[in-house]
Amino acid sequence: MKFGFDIDDTLINLREYAFHYYQKQLNKPVDLAVFHELNRVEIHEAFGLSDEEGKNMWNRSLEFLYFTDCPLYADALDLLKQLESDGHEIYYITSRPIAFTEKTFNWMVEQGFPIARENFFCGMKDSEKVDIIKSLQLDYYFDDKPAVLNTLTGESVTVIVKDQSYNRHLDLPRVKNWDELGDLINSELK
Ligand SMILES: [Mg+2]
Repeated sequence: MKFGFDIDDTLINLREYAFHYYQKQLNKPVDLAVFHELNRVEIHEAFGLSDEEGKNMWNRSLEFLYFTDCPLYADALDLLKQLESDGHEIYYITSRPIAFTEKTFNWMVEQGFPIARENFFCGMKDSEKVDIIKSLQLDYYFDDKPAVLNTLTGESVTVIVKDQSYNRHLDLPRVKNWDELGDLINSELK
């Protein structure tokens, strides 16, 4: 089987990492409960920033957020390693800016993800992921972002949502954690 994964907020906890980073950078403590109630992908509203200020802050922070110590979601690595050792093909499809392609690939290698350069796609728009997913003929695809997930309805790929506060309105199979996802995949493949 062919499994495709988004990276940010699907395999790694990037927004929450950013939420902590913003608190330090702006010297503004904000309760984590606020983070868990955000109903959009962007986090700047929790800090009283406008969309433009938020966009600038996000872009200034990317190098740090992407390439330091962003935590992986628990069990994500084990599950992907298990899939690989069971003989499945694993693809990564991230819409991180194209300038970060090589560093992102290297960071994923350093974290221990089973990853091959030819199975790693970076730098497309959210709306362009669907074309890659179709051309790869993926059996499963995992993502958190409504702007991506909404483009995949009607495609033959089985789409599974990584549960986040901003995607609860989507009526798709979802998992809250990777432990659960492992059970779901294992039961489907038997
Ligand atoms: Mg994502």
